Amino acid sequence: MAAPRPPRLDAAADEVARAAAAAPDWATLADTARSCVACPELAAARQHVVVGDVPVTGRPLVAIVGEAPGATEDETGRPFVGKSGALLDLLLGEAGLDRGRTAVLNVVKCRPPGNRTPRADEVGRCSGWLRRQLELLDPPAVVALGLSAAKWFLGPRTVLARAREAGPVEWEGRGLYVTYHPSAAIRFGPNGAPRAALAADLRHVATMVGARETR
Ligand code: SF4
Repeated sequence: MAAPRPPRLDAAADEVARAAAAAPDWATLADTARSCVACPELAAARQHVVVGDVPVTGRPLVAIVGEAPGATEDETGRPFVGKSGALLDLLLGEAGLDRGRTAVLNVVKCRPPGNRTPRADEVGRCSGWLRRQLELLDPPAVVALGLSAAKWFLGPRTVLARAREAGPVEWEGRGLYVTYHPSAAIRFGPNGAPRAALAADLRHVATMVGARETR
């Protein structure tokens, strides 16, 4: 399907997009992103730009895209290493998807103060990094965790439950799967519907990318 592109709202967004597009490889992109100050409030408050985790070698089986770093991620500089990350790792393992063979990214690379939802201007500015990351990594499948990620791929009118129920769609030549964010699974508890749905969706993705057969 034709991907609705997040609006580039200002000169800072254009500058990020230019810098990201000029990065010839992951290491260059990561180095450049780590000094990004396009969002003054986030840049002033952050400890780290959380660029993302990628496999040591090879093309990732899947790119998992969340919303933004939380406190633990900001402290460590790595994505999904707090409570949500622990649950994600558990469910990936149960699904047969080795996290080391995935890319783990966020829509926004710097922690919004107080873990607030990233604003549209911040998402717009950071979009250049994520877009180039996906080009460089070239994963055959992408998992959007939660509403912010789903909106990044599918547009601002996206309704999470509806997008999930509609099933995977093609996004720029990749399979795009929309599911719940692990934080929602934690909020609704171990017997809640979001956790069961997230676990089922990760199992489905693992099967579709061949991870369960190659264990
Ligand atoms: S959130 Fe993204 S665009 Fe904004 S300062 Fe951080 S890396 Fe740059």
